[in-house]
Amino acid sequence: MSVDRALERLDTDTTGLSSSEVERRTGEYGPNTLPKASPPSALRVFARQFRSPLIYVLAAAALVSISVGERTDAGFIVVVLLANALVGGVQEWRAAQSTHALQRLLRTRATVVRDDRTVEVDSEVVVPGDIVVLESGSAVPADVRLIATTGLETDESTLTGESTTVEKEATWTGAPSTPLADRRNLAFAGTTVVRGRARGVVVATGEDTAVGSLAEDVSALGEGRPPLVQRMQRFTRALGAAVVGVSLLAIGFGVVVRGFEISTMVLFGVALAVAAIPEGLPVSMTVALGVATRRMAALGVIVRRLVAVEGLGSCTYIATDKTGTITENRLSVRRVRLPGGQTLSIGEDGETADTRSKRSDELSRLAVAVSLCNEGSLVADGEEVTRRGDPTDTALLAFARRFDVTADSASARYPQVGTIPFESERGYAATYHRVPDEETDGDGETLVFVKGAPERIIDMCEWNDDGATTGTVGTESAARRRALDEATELAADGYRVLAVAEGRVHGRVPDDPSLEPPSGLRLLGFVGMTDPLRSGARAAVESARAAGIQVAMITGDHPETALAIARELGMATSLDEVVTGAELAAMDDGEVAETVRVTSVFARVAPDQKLRIVAAAKTAGHFVAVTGDGVNDAPALQAANIGIAMGKDGTDVARDAAELVLSDDNFATIVSGIEQGRVAYDNVRKVIYLLVSTNAAEVVLVLLSLAAGLPLALTAVQLLWLNLVTEGMQDVALGFEPKEDDVLERPPRSPSEPIFDRLMIERTAVSTGYIGLVGFATFSWLLASGASAPEARNGLLLLMVLFENAQVGNSRSETRSVFRISPLSNPFLLAAAVGALVVHAAALYVPIAQSVLETAPVSLAHLLMYFALAGGLLVVTELHKHWWQYRH
Ligand code: ADP
Ligand code: MG
Repeated sequence: MSVDRALERLDTDTTGLSSSEVERRTGEYGPNTLPKASPPSALRVFARQFRSPLIYVLAAAALVSISVGERTDAGFIVVVLLANALVGGVQEWRAAQSTHALQRLLRTRATVVRDDRTVEVDSEVVVPGDIVVLESGSAVPADVRLIATTGLETDESTLTGESTTVEKEATWTGAPSTPLADRRNLAFAGTTVVRGRARGVVVATGEDTAVGSLAEDVSALGEGRPPLVQRMQRFTRALGAAVVGVSLLAIGFGVVVRGFEISTMVLFGVALAVAAIPEGLPVSMTVALGVATRRMAALGVIVRRLVAVEGLGSCTYIATDKTGTITENRLSVRRVRLPGGQTLSIGEDGETADTRSKRSDELSRLAVAVSLCNEGSLVADGEEVTRRGDPTDTALLAFARRFDVTADSASARYPQVGTIPFESERGYAATYHRVPDEETDGDGETLVFVKGAPERIIDMCEWNDDGATTGTVGTESAARRRALDEATELAADGYRVLAVAEGRVHGRVPDDPSLEPPSGLRLLGFVGMTDPLRSGARAAVESARAAGIQVAMITGDHPETALAIARELGMATSLDEVVTGAELAAMDDGEVAETVRVTSVFARVAPDQKLRIVAAAKTAGHFVAVTGDGVNDAPALQAANIGIAMGKDGTDVARDAAELVLSDDNFATIVSGIEQGRVAYDNVRKVIYLLVSTNAAEVVLVLLSLAAGLPLALTAVQLLWLNLVTEGMQDVALGFEPKEDDVLERPPRSPSEPIFDRLMIERTAVSTGYIGLVGFATFSWLLASGASAPEARNGLLLLMVLFENAQVGNSRSETRSVFRISPLSNPFLLAAAVGALVVHAAALYVPIAQSVLETAPVSLAHLLMYFALAGGLLVVTELHKHWWQYRH
């Protein structure tokens, strides 16, 4: 169908729909969304909690209890079972909800024309008949009949599985039977623009799109639990299986060797299983990571894949963009250098005094050129002027306005007939215009205006040295040399430099102008733009370095411009320290690796060279985080350990390839993100230490009592209770621990470092040994001094409650003394620990608890002794902390 017929059928035109019509159509066609896998229902999450080894063991225990007539035991087990599932379920459900909420922040946006104005909207509200604007990096929001295309190529792999890009052409028409992949005048929802620009009219949205009829859910991030949690889950499962095996052995040992009754031994085995399985582990780790994700979101780091949270902590190398990340991307033209060497400064408020009189012709030609060769726009909204589009382009428009040139006035004079849009890899942009009758002798000439990186543009110009007739394009001539030097001088002053040129093309404009760069141009001048450094950038670079992280700045800008910024950041002092893309291209992989080791500033780097830098850093053993905004950055983002995309100025494609999105595009935010990543990892270790050390101690107690032929030290029911009041909330609360002051002063941890490292093993051995041995000694002593088995167990249970809550304190830092950490810095943890003690104290007196838990009040003397022993645990752990610090 021709464009006109399509527009007619959709009852729309190129000025777009009116807002009332959009509203009507939204009602008729519904939102532009695909059916999404909704987050799991609360009931489902709850049910999922029952799929765990501990639950199976407990269910078996409940059955055994009933069969031996212990109804209250069975009842209690069931209550604990439910309580456990409830705590786990609530935590997991909350985590899922907040992930879902964060994903809403990441919805794609679409540029549409409505009421004859170009606006950015949520892709969800796009309706059939909307006119959409596409550029490289955009996600196509709906199925679109293209109206106009310039060098448009899309990636349709999501739809067809075909990874080569597809060239699109608005003027193409074909038979209705043409297969989807060959319909070149359509762009499809779910695909992305790799190159070029286009306008089109939406023909189908939501489920009516080609992808909507194919897929159930393309938007799912396809992510299970993060690897760290998966690892611990496997660990817990394996441990569970091992525990069941050991319990069976223990039961056999008890029955055959010691001659205990089978029912006693079964309860014994169940107790052992309860003691050994750190049931809260996966849930509390998930919570710790979830807390980190929320903290990061509050700082401006949106986590797309949870794996990035744990990974960030091991980051050793950040490769960051300059423009927009280190700098603010608030460009303004401050210098103009006209051919012949005259330099003009442009003040905040307009031209300098002499500009107008002396140089008006050349300047206004330059202004016309940059307003025509421009994809941005300035939208006047009363007094306010808002800038839309590439900051480089809008800065040029603002500059041209000072000379009373606007894009509208310029294109009224020179109607556009073709463009080559700017792409980083190309390094320039061009635009073709019809010459008005009074400026032409009628031989069908076309004007071309070009702007871009000086080296590129200078090569397109024709150089006439005085004396010589015509210089050939690209040869070294004095004039050309001088032009290059002038550009370099501007760059050395820290300006972002663009060269501007114009020329004439004879005959028709080639159908696809992007194939052939213009040539034979005349240089109109250079413009120099400033771009202020972001305020926290220097401090962030310093703290990254203090944290043992190498920072490299990668830019497409001129080496001199890059050096000027690098100087301000304290990253480089001379041009020798700046490596250019051209130099990289000439190196083999080994040389690149060596360069990456010693270099922190890369300039005039093309996107594929960025990929090489990332790969080299990874090969050198670095854990690499890389930032990117353009469509060409996607491979580097994917190759890096952690890809970081820009939320404000980045493209959809880059965001899709990234693990993290920076909502403020700011380099300093990356460093705060790394800090939070380290905190998250620390907190996960704290949770693991608490659970593993206390559970191991319970196992030691149970096994010692069995081996010594004493009664069971703690019954299964008591152990369940113990775990409930000492871990039920404390493990989750540890995930909320605030950061420790030195997180950014430590070297990064190796990504392959095991959780159970030397420190963890030693510390666990110390505390587990203390709790197990002192607990067992106390139990034996109580029995020896005439207490009955239930009385001795009551004392031991109280002691264990104190031990394990002291252990919560010990877990708060691996290096610092617990007495140096304010208990108020984690109110949740404090409340959980105090609450646990109160609850257990109550359990000593409340009759129903007394009958289920076999508890009873203890004498003051015993109580004081238990407190003293628990204090001993703090002392022993403190000593180990000191000793560890002393050794390291
Ligand atoms: P970066 O984003 O790292 O600064 P770019 O690839 O965007 O790198 O820019 C590299 C060079 O390309 C700039 O120094 C400038 O000379 C030129 N350039 C940048 N933006 C444009 C544009 N919109 N049109 C023409 N030339 C541009
Ligand atoms: Mg750029």
